[in-house]
Amino acid sequence: MKVAFLASEVIPYAKTGGLADVAGALPKFLTGLGADVRVFMPFYREVGKKNLPLVSVIDSASLEVNGETLAYRVLAHCADGVTTYFVDRPEYFDRDQLYGTPAGDYPDNGERFGFFCRAALETMRTVGFPPDVIHAHDWQSALTFAYLKFPYAGDAFFGRTRTVFTIHNLAYQGLFDKAVLGSVGLPSSLFNMNDLEFFGQVNALKAGILYSSAVTTVSPRYSREIQTPAFGCGLDGLLRSRSGALHGILNGVDYRDWDPATDKLIPHKFAPADLAGKKVCRDELAREFGLAAPADLPVAGMVTRLAGQKGLDIVCEALDALLGLGLTLVILGTGEQKIQDFLLAAQKKHPKRIGLKIAFDERIAHTIYAGSDLFLIPSRYEPCGLTQMYAMKYGTVPVVRATGGLDDSVQEFDAKTGSGNGFKFAEAAPGPLVEAAGRAAAGFKRPAEWRTLVGNAMAADFSWSRSAAEYLALYKKLAAA
Ligand code: ADP
Repeated sequence: MKVAFLASEVIPYAKTGGLADVAGALPKFLTGLGADVRVFMPFYREVGKKNLPLVSVIDSASLEVNGETLAYRVLAHCADGVTTYFVDRPEYFDRDQLYGTPAGDYPDNGERFGFFCRAALETMRTVGFPPDVIHAHDWQSALTFAYLKFPYAGDAFFGRTRTVFTIHNLAYQGLFDKAVLGSVGLPSSLFNMNDLEFFGQVNALKAGILYSSAVTTVSPRYSREIQTPAFGCGLDGLLRSRSGALHGILNGVDYRDWDPATDKLIPHKFAPADLAGKKVCRDELAREFGLAAPADLPVAGMVTRLAGQKGLDIVCEALDALLGLGLTLVILGTGEQKIQDFLLAAQKKHPKRIGLKIAFDERIAHTIYAGSDLFLIPSRYEPCGLTQMYAMKYGTVPVVRATGGLDDSVQEFDAKTGSGNGFKFAEAAPGPLVEAAGRAAAGFKRPAEWRTLVGNAMAADFSWSRSAAEYLALYKKLAAA
């Protein structure tokens, strides 16, 4: 089974969120199941800075777009049995960020990622990799399927290729002026409601939903939610029309990167049988952030984009009440200026109670997962969410809003039966968040009960094996059809 995997971010090369974790891990697990997976992503400045032993696969190639000749080259890197091809066009990808600056998205994102998709298809041809399945992720890779459906229709090289499109977050759709179609070499006739038009703009994500053999999303509950107006972001009707081809497959965790027993990024390793190291991590976390963190009151961590989706405004509103429960808060994140400003001011006011770092930092993230007692995720919606899964593995109990993958992966703790691995609340509002955090804080004061809960969280198994097998079964079904 030959699988071409297209994603705009892939660990360990470039990451802004969960997509990178998934696109880095899933190909390895599919390879373990016998698939031949090749990954395609852009060659960003930050990939170049990593000084990897890269191999030049295509020294010079070009695409004709709109009468212009756009040059590129292709580099490759192999790790854990998976080859990743990088599309290198400095005009498009040699930039500070992946998608834009804090001031906004790069204005040529349509051209950048359209180019990436087409160059990836051409690279498959040049290196002689006719895929049985092309699996593309999110809007940045979705135009692949518009090329296959239109300019590449009848192309014998892709004659047997089936297509899978995965939605990691329906809210990010890749919306552009209609002129983008010409600029990426797609027919302008696609600007109609039954193709890529969406309220007067071109919607790149629609190409993935409309033209792929199967659409997947990253949790069973989110696959149902996005077919409703409340979560559908204007595409629920289209998704309902494809519901027969829509599958929810829960993301997994690569425990080679996320395991406190082997994690090199945390101050002290620990395992379920001996949590002494977790206490060292907690002390070190408090020291690093200058927190008092009394031993009998819980430390609540967050590692998150500072965005409305993640319920940060709810946290801001609930802040005094959360402190009133005795919590110490530690937050690592980047994102919206308004939220940053609010949190920075709160941190100044309560320097011993609130730890805050505005940064994207893998080491600090691991330290927070390891050193916290609770992990807060009050998301308005959450396609899958990985942070609750990581937190659980580190014995850090999640307090989450019951939505999407959070609802699928967290079960409310029941002190009577000793079952469950976290705390949930239904409504995205400060009151319910504080109530759930209050249940957690009360549990924390009952050590025997808390040990059971921490044990349950650490025992929860979200390894990729099962989900990777589900993807492979889907590929096989499509290939046989
Ligand atoms: P999303 O992709 O919507 O942001 P996920 O929960 O799927 O949310 O994935 C978030 C990923 O990004 C996790 O691996 C998390 O640890 C990481 N992350 C988020 N913010 C930061 C940050 N400021 N520093 C380091 N890692 C971060």
